[in-house]
Amino acid sequence: MSVHFTQSCPTCGRRIRIRASLMGCEVGCQHCHAVFVAQADGVSDAKETVPNDESRDPLMDRVEQVLHRADESVAVG
Ligand SMILES: [Zn+2]
Repeated sequence: MSVHFTQSCPTCGRRIRIRASLMGCEVGCQHCHAVFVAQADGVSDAKETVPNDESRDPLMDRVEQVLHRADESVAVG
């Protein structure tokens, strides 16, 4: 049994099956015959991993505001 993975062709966008052993090798698209490096979907230079700080939970900001207020009231009172 041979193992395959699927990848969208960067040229024509169609999904093609690539033998897993060809991962990282140059392969030809079965549809448009474009040549590109085989790699599983989700591993793309275009997509950068977003650091956690960027996808911050807005609820945490509210919590910080509430804590800040509490500090102020303590300082006043
Ligand atoms: Zn193609």
